[in-house]
Amino acid sequence: MNIFGFDYDGTIINIEPQKAKTFGELISHNWGVGKKEAAQFWINGGGTSRRYKFDYFYKKRFNEKLSDKTYDEIESKYSKTLKQFFYPKVKLLSHALDILRFVQSKFDFVFVSSGVPLEEIKYLVHLNGLSDYFDLVLGTSKKYPTKREHFKEILQAKKPDFWMFMGDSAEDMKLAKEYKAITIGLPTNESEINLKNAGADYVCSLKESKSVIKKLLTNYNSASEF
Ligand SMILES: [Mg+2]
Repeated sequence: MNIFGFDYDGTIINIEPQKAKTFGELISHNWGVGKKEAAQFWINGGGTSRRYKFDYFYKKRFNEKLSDKTYDEIESKYSKTLKQFFYPKVKLLSHALDILRFVQSKFDFVFVSSGVPLEEIKYLVHLNGLSDYFDLVLGTSKKYPTKREHFKEILQAKKPDFWMFMGDSAEDMKLAKEYKAITIGLPTNESEINLKNAGADYVCSLKESKSVIKKLLTNYNSASEF
């Protein structure tokens, strides 16, 4: 069995910069944290969960742990802003649809692993008209605090002999590599060198990724004939 996993934001779409700015404005307004510092932290923290980013600044500002209740309150404001102003205008990155079609035709199981809350990523994938391209869409939740839990569960259930993960953050590369994926890093928001250092096997554009995947599949198929 072969498996392909996609990160979503920065990989299929890219609204990380808008999300970073919105995060900065929201927590600067509510918690008095520097707007720019928070926005930059968001960008640097690509691949981590939304909860992790709020936790970090709450702890830094108030020196205590962010409660679920306080998180839910501020997160719902954040989510509402995204749904109202950004999600309706989201466009797919160029070549994303072509890659999705290609991967769907060549892999036995295709999934999304995102740091966006579970219900919200499902909503977004549906809004983008892409639900049919994925066998499973996973975001973060109590059950899945990070992408690590996604990888663990999927690999345990599917036991692939070949799997690939494509994402745009160093954290994506690091985690997928830990779970023995062949990794493709897209330099959408992060430098090529950071992705390579984090464990990316290949760094290329979305367009170029097709020939990379093709080549790897050919090797895999000819190896598995013996
Ligand atoms: Mg991403």
